[in-house]
Amino acid sequence: MDIHSSVITLPSVGPSYAKRLEKLGILTVLDLLYHLPARYEDYSLVSPIFGLQRGETVTVQGTLDSVKTVYTRRGKQFQEAHVTDSTGSISIIWFNQPFLTKSLKPGVHISLSGKVDEWNKKPALISPDYELIQPSVQSLIHTGRLVPVYPETYGLSSKWLRSRISSVLHSDFQIIDPLPQEIVTRESFPDLINSFKAVHFPDSLASAQNARQRLAFDELFYLSLTIENRKHSWKIHKSAHQMHIDYSKLDRFFGSLPFTLTPDQKTAIDHILTDLSQNIAMNRILEGDVGSGKTVVAAAAALVTGLNNKKTLFMAPTQILSTQHHHTLTQLLKPHGMDVGLVTSGLRKDIKKSIINFPVIVGTHALLHQKHLGLDPDIGLVVIDEQHRFGVEQRSHFLKSKPHVPHVLTMTATPIPRTVALTLYGDLDLSQIKTLPQYRKKVTTWVVPPEKRDKAYLWIRKTLQENKSQAFIICPFIEPSESMATVKSATTEFNRLSREIFPDLKLALLHGKIKPADKDRLMQDFKAGEYDILVATPVVEVGIDIPTANIILIEDADKFGLASLHQLRGRVGRGNLQSFCLLFTQTSPPPQRLKALEYTHSGITLAEIDLKTRGPGDIYGTAQHGFWQLKIATYQDLGLIEKSKSWASKIYPLLDKYPALRQIVQSATIPKVEPN
Ligand code: ADP
Ligand code: MG
Repeated sequence: MDIHSSVITLPSVGPSYAKRLEKLGILTVLDLLYHLPARYEDYSLVSPIFGLQRGETVTVQGTLDSVKTVYTRRGKQFQEAHVTDSTGSISIIWFNQPFLTKSLKPGVHISLSGKVDEWNKKPALISPDYELIQPSVQSLIHTGRLVPVYPETYGLSSKWLRSRISSVLHSDFQIIDPLPQEIVTRESFPDLINSFKAVHFPDSLASAQNARQRLAFDELFYLSLTIENRKHSWKIHKSAHQMHIDYSKLDRFFGSLPFTLTPDQKTAIDHILTDLSQNIAMNRILEGDVGSGKTVVAAAAALVTGLNNKKTLFMAPTQILSTQHHHTLTQLLKPHGMDVGLVTSGLRKDIKKSIINFPVIVGTHALLHQKHLGLDPDIGLVVIDEQHRFGVEQRSHFLKSKPHVPHVLTMTATPIPRTVALTLYGDLDLSQIKTLPQYRKKVTTWVVPPEKRDKAYLWIRKTLQENKSQAFIICPFIEPSESMATVKSATTEFNRLSREIFPDLKLALLHGKIKPADKDRLMQDFKAGEYDILVATPVVEVGIDIPTANIILIEDADKFGLASLHQLRGRVGRGNLQSFCLLFTQTSPPPQRLKALEYTHSGITLAEIDLKTRGPGDIYGTAQHGFWQLKIATYQDLGLIEKSKSWASKIYPLLDKYPALRQIVQSATIPKVEPN
C-alpha cells in the first residue's frame, strides 16, 4: 500500500467517507495515521463473569448464547443477548440496534467492554463495545485493551476510525522516516512505524506517551527546520544599507518629545540602532501592548534612516490606522526636517508621484504593490504595524529587492509567549515593551455575572452621561471567523440594545461585512462623537485611538482567550478618563480564569496563562492569536521545543544529506490561521 495515496483507496472508504475525512484535513493514508487519539479507554482488564461488580469497567469474553429483539409496551425496542464464560453468564443490552440479531450468531466468541450496570436487578453490560474474537485474524482493537478514542466529528465514529487505522497498520505498508537516524538513536525514539502502532494501539500508556512524544518532536523539528530555512534565506541574500547613527541628532529628537522614554522603549531603540548599523538586514519584531508607545520607537528608526538619505515605508493594516500614523509621525518628525507623506488609494497620480519621494511614506500594505515603490532601491527601512502573521508575506516580498534588502521592523500588540517566539518566530529578533508609560491608568476590569447585567447597563448609561464619554460593546463570539452567522447575531444584538436597553442613546453597528470605506467613515464619526455606543463584532481592528471612549463591554467573555480580551480592552484607556472593561458571561458563577483580567494588566502574562489553560479545540489558546496551530506538540512543552530547535540548527547545514527532510522544508508552508 502506498501511504501517500488517497484514503479512498482503502477498503470500506467510499466517496462519502472520504468527504468526511477531508473535513478533518485527512486526504491521504498518511494523514489518517497522523489523526491521533484524544485519549484511551482502558478496557485491558479481562474479568471472569462471575463476581462482576456494578460500576467496574471491564472486558468480558465468552460465547454468545442468544440475541433477540425485545419490544416494550411503549413501542420501543432493545436487543438482549446472553454471554457465558467458564464462570457464569451475563445479560447484554443494546438499544435500537436491530441489525445485531442478524450480525451476531449464537455460538460465536465475543469480546465486550464497558461499565458493569444492572438490568432486572442483575449485573449486565449496557451498550458495551464489542467485537468477535477470531484468532486467525488480527488482535482485538475495540475491546480488551487500551482502546483509542478519537476526536469525533463529521459523522466519523471512533469505532470506524479505529477499524480503518488498524487495517492500515496491519497491512505491509512502506514509509520513509525522514527523521535522521542519528536523532532517532540519540533520543531513543521508536521508529516511525512503531510510533504509529504504539500511539494508536498501545500496550501501555507509557508506550503511547513515548510514541506521541516522538511524533510531537517530529512536528516541532520540521517546523524548526522550516524557520531555520526562512532565517537563512533572509540572511544570505543581499546586504542591507549599513547606516551611520548620528547620536547628537537623535538626542535632539528625544529631547523634543513631550515625555521621557520608558526603559523598555530605550532598550528597543538600542536594539534597532545596532541592527541598522549592520549590513545584514534587520528582521526584528517589536512587541508591546496597545498604548505601550511603539510608534515613537519606529519614528526614531525612521529618523536615522532619513538622515542616511534612505526612505522609510510605514505600513498599517487599514486606511484609518495609516491616517492616524501619518498624523503622529508628522508631529514627531516634521520639526526635525523630515516630511511624512500619506499614500491613499484615491490619490491623484501626480500627487502620489511626489509623495513617494518623501523620506517617510505611510500607507496600507497596498504600498508594496505601488509602481516604483514596492521595490524602490532607496528604501532603507520598512515598518510593518499590526500585520497578521507579523509581516511574513511582506518580508518575502522584500527579499526580491535589489541590490539591497531593506531593514524590516514589524510591530505588534499580540503578546507572543516565549515558546511561541522560539518555535514559530525563531527567525525574528524580538524586542518587547513590557511596561506602559507611567501616566496611563489601568483599565478597571470587572467580570459581570448574568444576574448583574441589568444593573451594569444602568451603570453604563449613567457613566457615559456623566463623563460625556463613549462605549464599545463587543458582540457575542459566534465563530472564529467573521461569518454571516456572526454578522447576523451582531445585528440582532444591535437591534436589541437600540430598542430595549439604550433607546435614548445613539448606537452604531460595525462588522466585517461593512465595506472598508464605510467602516472608516463610521469610525471617524464615532471618534467625532456622533455616536454614544459602537456595537461591534469581536473581529474589528485593534489600534484605533478613541480617547473619549472609556467603557468596553465584552459579551461572552469566556469564549475568548485572556490575551484577546486584554487586546480588546486596550481600546479604552487612551484618554484622561478612568476607563472600564466589563466582561459579561452567560454562566454563573463566571469562570475563574477570567478573574485574571481583574488583577493582571500585562498582555504577555495573560498570554502565558492562556497557554497553560488551553481548552478543548484550543478555542482560547493559540488559535485566537493567529499563531499556527500545532497538531501534536503543544506550545507548553518548552523542553521538547528547545530540543527540536537545537537539533534543527545542527541538521540544517547538512540538509543536502537528507533528501526526505529537504523535501519537507522546501514544500512547507506555514498555513494561515485566520486571526481575529
Ligand atoms: P502603540 O504601542 O499602541 O502603538 P503608541 O505608539 O500609539 O502606542 O503610543 C500611545 C500613546 O502613548 C501616544 O499618545 C504616545 O504619544 C504616548 N507615549 C509613547 N511613549 C510614551 C512615554 N514614554 N511616556 C508617555 N507617553 C508616551
Ligand atoms: Mg500602534
